[in-house]
Amino acid sequence: TRAALGSLRHVPAVTPAGEAIELAANIEVPEDVDGAVEMNADGIGLFRTEFLFMGRKQLPDEDEQFSAYARVVLAMAGKPVVIRTLDIGADKTLAEEVDLQAVVAPNPALGLRAIRYCLANPEMFRTQLRAILRASALGPVKILIPMVAHEHEVDQARAAIERAKKELKARGEKCAANVPVGAMIEIPAAALILDRLLPKLDFCSIGTNDLIQYTLAIDRADAEVAHLYDPAHPAVLHLIEHTIRTCKAAGKPVSVCGEMAGDTKYTERLLAMGLTSFSMHAGCILPVKSIIRGSAAAAPLAQPMANTPHA
Ligand code: PEP
Ligand code: MG
Repeated sequence: TRAALGSLRHVPAVTPAGEAIELAANIEVPEDVDGAVEMNADGIGLFRTEFLFMGRKQLPDEDEQFSAYARVVLAMAGKPVVIRTLDIGADKTLAEEVDLQAVVAPNPALGLRAIRYCLANPEMFRTQLRAILRASALGPVKILIPMVAHEHEVDQARAAIERAKKELKARGEKCAANVPVGAMIEIPAAALILDRLLPKLDFCSIGTNDLIQYTLAIDRADAEVAHLYDPAHPAVLHLIEHTIRTCKAAGKPVSVCGEMAGDTKYTERLLAMGLTSFSMHAGCILPVKSIIRGSAAAAPLAQPMANTPHA
Protein backbone atom coordinates (compact mmCIF):
# COMPACT_ATOMS: atom_id res chain seq x y z
CA THR A 1 0.00 0.00 0.00
CA ARG A 2 0.98 3.66 -0.31
CA ALA A 3 1.35 4.12 3.44
CA ALA A 4 3.55 1.04 3.75
CA LEU A 5 5.71 2.28 0.89
CA GLY A 6 5.88 5.74 2.45
CA SER A 7 7.42 4.27 5.58
CA LEU A 8 10.32 3.12 3.38
CA ARG A 9 11.38 6.66 2.61
CA HIS A 10 13.93 6.91 5.37
CA VAL A 11 15.15 3.33 5.57
CA PRO A 12 18.19 2.35 3.53
CA ALA A 13 17.99 0.21 0.38
CA VAL A 14 19.83 -2.83 1.71
CA THR A 15 19.42 -6.38 0.42
CA PRO A 16 18.67 -9.20 2.87
CA ALA A 17 22.31 -10.25 2.36
CA GLY A 18 23.36 -6.83 3.69
CA GLU A 19 24.46 -5.16 0.47
CA ALA A 20 23.75 -1.43 0.29
CA ILE A 21 22.15 -0.34 -3.00
CA GLU A 22 22.20 3.24 -4.27
CA LEU A 23 18.84 4.54 -5.49
CA ALA A 24 19.16 7.86 -7.32
CA ALA A 25 16.60 9.90 -9.23
CA ASN A 26 16.26 10.88 -12.90
CA ILE A 27 15.15 14.46 -13.52
CA GLU A 28 14.26 16.48 -16.62
CA VAL A 29 13.78 20.02 -15.31
CA PRO A 30 15.23 21.63 -12.17
CA GLU A 31 11.86 21.58 -10.38
CA ASP A 32 11.90 17.77 -10.53
CA VAL A 33 14.57 17.84 -7.84
CA ASP A 34 11.87 18.45 -5.23
CA GLY A 35 10.44 14.97 -5.89
CA ALA A 36 13.91 13.46 -5.56
CA VAL A 37 14.43 15.15 -2.19
CA GLU A 38 10.97 14.05 -1.04
CA MET A 39 11.78 10.42 -1.85
CA ASN A 40 15.15 10.77 -0.12
CA ALA A 41 17.01 9.78 -3.29
CA ASP A 42 20.72 9.05 -2.83
CA GLY A 43 21.54 11.55 -5.55
CA ILE A 44 20.56 12.61 -9.05
CA GLY A 45 21.71 9.78 -11.31
CA LEU A 46 20.56 11.43 -14.53
CA PHE A 47 19.75 15.09 -15.20
CA ARG A 48 18.39 15.13 -18.76
CA THR A 49 19.48 18.69 -19.54
CA GLU A 50 18.03 18.70 -23.06
CA PHE A 51 14.65 19.68 -21.60
CA LEU A 52 16.15 23.12 -20.85
CA PHE A 53 16.87 23.48 -24.58
CA MET A 54 13.71 22.11 -26.17
CA GLY A 55 10.73 24.07 -27.47
CA ARG A 56 12.45 27.46 -27.69
CA LYS A 57 13.92 29.59 -30.45
CA GLN A 58 16.91 30.81 -28.46
CA LEU A 59 19.08 28.37 -26.54
CA PRO A 60 19.72 29.02 -22.83
CA ASP A 61 22.93 30.98 -22.23
CA GLU A 62 25.61 30.03 -19.71
CA ASP A 63 24.06 31.96 -16.81
CA GLU A 64 20.59 30.52 -17.36
CA GLN A 65 22.03 27.02 -17.47
CA PHE A 66 24.19 27.66 -14.42
CA SER A 67 21.11 28.74 -12.43
CA ALA A 68 19.30 25.54 -13.40
CA TYR A 69 22.21 23.25 -12.50
CA ALA A 70 22.98 25.18 -9.32
CA ARG A 71 19.42 24.87 -8.12
CA VAL A 72 19.63 21.08 -8.38
CA VAL A 73 23.07 20.81 -6.81
CA LEU A 74 22.08 23.01 -3.86
CA ALA A 75 18.78 21.16 -3.32
CA MET A 76 20.64 17.85 -3.15
CA ALA A 77 22.74 19.24 -0.30
CA GLY A 78 25.96 17.32 -0.81
CA LYS A 79 24.58 14.26 -2.57
CA PRO A 80 26.01 13.58 -6.04
CA VAL A 81 24.40 15.06 -9.16
CA VAL A 82 25.10 13.47 -12.55
CA ILE A 83 24.51 16.07 -15.24
CA ARG A 84 24.20 14.66 -18.74
CA THR A 85 25.35 16.93 -21.55
CA LEU A 86 22.82 17.79 -24.22
CA ASP A 87 21.24 14.59 -25.59
CA ILE A 88 19.33 16.11 -28.46
CA GLY A 89 17.91 14.32 -31.52
CA ALA A 90 15.47 11.57 -32.47
CA ASP A 91 12.85 11.48 -29.68
CA LYS A 92 14.07 14.84 -28.24
CA THR A 93 14.44 17.54 -30.90
CA LEU A 94 15.37 21.20 -30.73
CA ALA A 95 13.10 23.79 -32.30
CA GLU A 96 13.35 23.91 -36.08
CA GLU A 97 14.71 27.47 -35.91
CA VAL A 98 17.71 26.25 -33.90
CA ASP A 99 18.44 22.88 -35.47
CA LEU A 100 17.09 22.55 -38.98
CA GLN A 101 19.44 19.64 -39.64
CA ALA A 102 17.52 17.31 -37.32
CA VAL A 103 14.30 17.98 -39.18
CA VAL A 104 15.78 16.89 -42.49
CA ALA A 105 17.95 14.03 -41.21
CA PRO A 106 17.02 10.84 -43.09
CA ASN A 107 17.12 8.83 -39.86
CA PRO A 108 17.33 11.05 -36.78
CA ALA A 109 17.94 8.15 -34.37
CA LEU A 110 21.10 7.35 -36.33
CA GLY A 111 21.99 10.94 -37.15
CA LEU A 112 23.82 13.93 -35.73
CA ARG A 113 22.53 13.66 -32.18
CA ALA A 114 23.72 13.83 -28.57
CA ILE A 115 27.53 13.90 -28.27
CA ARG A 116 27.80 13.94 -32.07
CA TYR A 117 25.75 17.13 -32.19
CA CYS A 118 27.75 18.68 -29.35
CA LEU A 119 31.11 17.94 -30.94
CA ALA A 120 29.83 19.48 -34.19
CA ASN A 121 28.75 22.61 -32.26
CA PRO A 122 31.76 23.25 -30.02
CA GLU A 123 30.80 26.75 -28.83
CA MET A 124 27.38 25.59 -27.68
CA PHE A 125 28.95 22.51 -26.06
CA ARG A 126 31.53 24.55 -24.12
CA THR A 127 28.85 26.98 -22.98
CA GLN A 128 27.05 24.06 -21.36
CA LEU A 129 30.27 22.62 -19.96
CA ARG A 130 31.20 25.95 -18.36
CA ALA A 131 27.75 26.16 -16.74
CA ILE A 132 28.09 22.60 -15.38
CA LEU A 133 31.63 23.22 -14.15
CA ARG A 134 30.55 26.39 -12.35
CA ALA A 135 27.83 24.35 -10.60
CA SER A 136 30.52 21.87 -9.50
CA ALA A 137 31.84 24.55 -7.15
CA LEU A 138 28.59 24.21 -5.17
CA GLY A 139 28.52 20.43 -4.62
CA PRO A 140 29.53 17.06 -6.07
CA VAL A 141 28.85 17.10 -9.81
CA LYS A 142 29.67 14.47 -12.42
CA ILE A 143 29.49 14.93 -16.19
CA LEU A 144 27.80 12.22 -18.26
CA ILE A 145 28.33 11.97 -22.04
CA PRO A 146 25.38 10.50 -24.01
CA MET A 147 25.49 8.22 -27.08
CA VAL A 148 29.17 7.38 -27.01
CA ALA A 149 30.19 4.83 -29.65
CA HIS A 150 33.83 5.74 -30.33
CA GLU A 151 36.90 6.18 -28.15
CA HIS A 152 37.70 9.48 -29.89
CA GLU A 153 34.34 10.90 -28.76
CA VAL A 154 35.44 10.50 -25.15
CA ASP A 155 38.81 12.08 -25.97
CA GLN A 156 37.16 15.02 -27.70
CA ALA A 157 34.62 15.50 -24.90
CA ARG A 158 37.41 15.50 -22.33
CA ALA A 159 39.39 18.01 -24.39
CA ALA A 160 36.33 20.28 -24.51
CA ILE A 161 35.93 19.97 -20.72
CA GLU A 162 39.58 20.91 -20.18
CA ARG A 163 39.23 23.90 -22.47
CA ALA A 164 36.05 24.99 -20.68
CA LYS A 165 37.91 24.78 -17.35
CA LYS A 166 40.69 27.00 -18.72
CA GLU A 167 38.12 29.53 -19.95
CA LEU A 168 36.56 29.67 -16.47
CA LYS A 169 39.94 30.00 -14.84
CA ALA A 170 40.81 32.91 -17.12
CA ARG A 171 37.59 34.60 -15.95
CA GLY A 172 38.40 33.91 -12.31
CA GLU A 173 35.44 31.55 -11.85
CA LYS A 174 35.59 28.61 -9.49
CA CYS A 175 34.98 24.96 -10.27
CA ALA A 176 35.70 21.71 -8.45
CA ALA A 177 39.23 20.37 -8.77
CA ASN A 178 37.96 16.95 -9.78
CA VAL A 179 34.80 16.53 -11.85
CA PRO A 180 34.33 12.84 -12.80
CA VAL A 181 33.49 12.20 -16.46
CA GLY A 182 31.41 9.18 -17.47
CA ALA A 183 29.69 7.78 -20.53
CA MET A 184 26.23 6.49 -21.23
CA ILE A 185 26.46 2.88 -22.37
CA GLU A 186 23.46 2.85 -24.67
CA ILE A 187 24.88 1.93 -28.07
CA PRO A 188 25.85 -1.75 -28.37
CA ALA A 189 29.26 -0.77 -29.79
CA ALA A 190 30.11 1.03 -26.56
CA ALA A 191 29.33 -2.06 -24.48
CA LEU A 192 31.43 -4.15 -26.84
CA ILE A 193 34.52 -1.89 -26.61
CA LEU A 194 34.17 -1.17 -22.92
CA ASP A 195 37.67 -2.46 -22.14
CA ARG A 196 39.01 0.31 -24.42
CA LEU A 197 36.67 3.02 -23.14
CA LEU A 198 37.04 2.39 -19.41
CA PRO A 199 40.61 3.68 -19.02
CA LYS A 200 39.28 7.03 -20.32
CA LEU A 201 36.21 7.10 -18.05
CA ASP A 202 35.52 7.63 -14.35
CA PHE A 203 32.13 5.89 -14.39
CA CYS A 204 29.42 4.45 -16.68
CA SER A 205 25.67 4.65 -16.77
CA ILE A 206 23.68 2.12 -18.77
CA GLY A 207 20.86 3.68 -20.80
CA THR A 208 18.60 0.72 -21.37
CA ASN A 209 16.02 2.73 -23.35
CA ASP A 210 18.42 3.33 -26.20
CA LEU A 211 20.41 0.14 -25.66
CA ILE A 212 17.24 -1.85 -26.34
CA GLN A 213 16.39 0.35 -29.33
CA TYR A 214 19.80 -0.03 -30.96
CA THR A 215 20.36 -3.68 -30.07
CA LEU A 216 16.99 -4.86 -31.37
CA ALA A 217 16.61 -2.27 -34.16
CA ILE A 218 13.27 -1.22 -32.66
CA ASP A 219 12.36 2.47 -32.74
CA ARG A 220 11.53 3.19 -29.10
CA ALA A 221 8.83 5.67 -30.18
CA ASP A 222 7.11 3.50 -32.80
CA ALA A 223 3.89 1.90 -31.53
CA GLU A 224 3.81 -0.49 -34.49
CA VAL A 225 6.82 -2.38 -33.15
CA ALA A 226 6.36 -1.72 -29.45
CA HIS A 227 5.51 -5.40 -28.89
CA LEU A 228 9.06 -6.26 -29.99
CA TYR A 229 10.70 -3.77 -27.62
CA ASP A 230 11.82 -6.31 -25.06
CA PRO A 231 14.13 -5.41 -22.14
CA ALA A 232 14.44 -9.12 -21.37
CA HIS A 233 15.69 -10.08 -24.83
CA PRO A 234 18.76 -12.26 -24.20
CA ALA A 235 20.97 -9.99 -26.34
CA VAL A 236 20.00 -6.96 -24.25
CA LEU A 237 20.51 -8.77 -20.94
CA HIS A 238 23.85 -10.03 -22.21
CA LEU A 239 25.09 -6.49 -22.98
CA ILE A 240 23.84 -5.16 -19.63
CA GLU A 241 25.47 -7.95 -17.65
CA HIS A 242 28.70 -7.65 -19.62
CA THR A 243 28.79 -3.91 -18.92
CA ILE A 244 28.12 -4.29 -15.19
CA ARG A 245 30.72 -7.04 -14.76
CA THR A 246 33.38 -5.33 -16.87
CA CYS A 247 32.99 -2.05 -14.96
CA LYS A 248 33.09 -3.80 -11.61
CA ALA A 249 36.20 -5.79 -12.59
CA ALA A 250 37.87 -2.50 -13.54
CA GLY A 251 36.79 -0.82 -10.30
CA LYS A 252 34.67 1.77 -12.16
CA PRO A 253 31.24 2.72 -10.76
CA VAL A 254 28.35 1.62 -12.97
CA SER A 255 24.63 2.29 -12.73
CA VAL A 256 21.52 1.74 -14.82
CA CYS A 257 19.50 4.88 -15.57
CA GLY A 258 17.10 3.63 -18.27
CA GLU A 259 13.47 2.79 -17.52
CA MET A 260 14.47 -0.78 -16.62
CA ALA A 261 16.04 0.53 -13.40
CA GLY A 262 12.65 1.72 -12.15
CA ASP A 263 10.65 -1.31 -13.26
CA THR A 264 10.20 -3.76 -10.38
CA LYS A 265 9.95 -6.64 -12.87
CA TYR A 266 13.70 -6.33 -13.45
CA THR A 267 15.02 -5.36 -10.02
CA GLU A 268 16.05 -8.86 -8.96
CA ARG A 269 17.60 -9.59 -12.33
CA LEU A 270 19.74 -6.47 -12.19
CA LEU A 271 20.80 -7.23 -8.61
CA ALA A 272 21.77 -10.75 -9.72
CA MET A 273 24.02 -9.21 -12.38
CA GLY A 274 25.86 -7.40 -9.60
CA LEU A 275 24.25 -3.97 -10.05
CA THR A 276 24.45 -1.84 -6.91
CA SER A 277 23.39 1.55 -8.32
CA PHE A 278 20.04 2.39 -9.92
CA SER A 279 18.63 5.70 -11.16
CA MET A 280 14.95 6.15 -11.91
CA HIS A 281 11.96 8.48 -11.84
CA ALA A 282 11.52 9.51 -8.20
CA GLY A 283 8.09 7.85 -8.11
CA CYS A 284 9.70 4.43 -8.67
CA ILE A 285 12.19 4.63 -5.79
CA LEU A 286 10.01 3.23 -3.01
CA PRO A 287 8.55 0.27 -4.99
CA VAL A 288 12.06 -0.70 -6.12
CA LYS A 289 13.39 -0.26 -2.58
CA SER A 290 10.74 -2.61 -1.24
CA ILE A 291 11.86 -5.32 -3.71
CA ILE A 292 15.50 -4.79 -2.79
CA ARG A 293 14.80 -5.09 0.94
CA GLY A 294 12.51 -8.08 0.55
CA SER A 295 14.33 -10.13 -2.05
CA ALA A 296 15.37 -13.29 -0.23
CA ALA A 297 17.22 -14.67 -3.22
CA ALA A 298 17.70 -12.95 -6.53
CA ALA A 299 15.65 -14.54 -9.30
CA PRO A 300 17.69 -16.75 -11.63
CA LEU A 301 18.25 -15.34 -15.08
CA ALA A 302 16.12 -16.72 -17.86
CA GLN A 303 19.20 -17.58 -19.92
CA PRO A 304 22.75 -18.24 -18.79
CA MET A 305 24.96 -15.49 -20.15
CA ALA A 306 28.61 -15.46 -21.09
CA ASN A 307 30.64 -12.62 -19.63
CA THR A 308 32.40 -11.45 -22.75
CA PRO A 309 30.46 -11.08 -25.99
CA HIS A 310 33.66 -10.01 -27.78
CA ALA A 311 36.14 -12.69 -26.78
C1 PEP B 1 18.33 5.68 -22.00
O1 PEP B 1 18.53 5.73 -23.22
O2 PEP B 1 18.08 4.61 -21.38
C2 PEP B 1 18.36 6.89 -21.17
C3 PEP B 1 18.39 6.83 -19.86
O3 PEP B 1 18.35 8.09 -21.78
P1 PEP B 1 17.11 8.71 -22.59
O4 PEP B 1 15.90 7.90 -22.24
O5 PEP B 1 17.04 10.12 -22.16
O6 PEP B 1 17.54 8.53 -24.01
MG1 MG C 1 19.35 7.46 -24.18
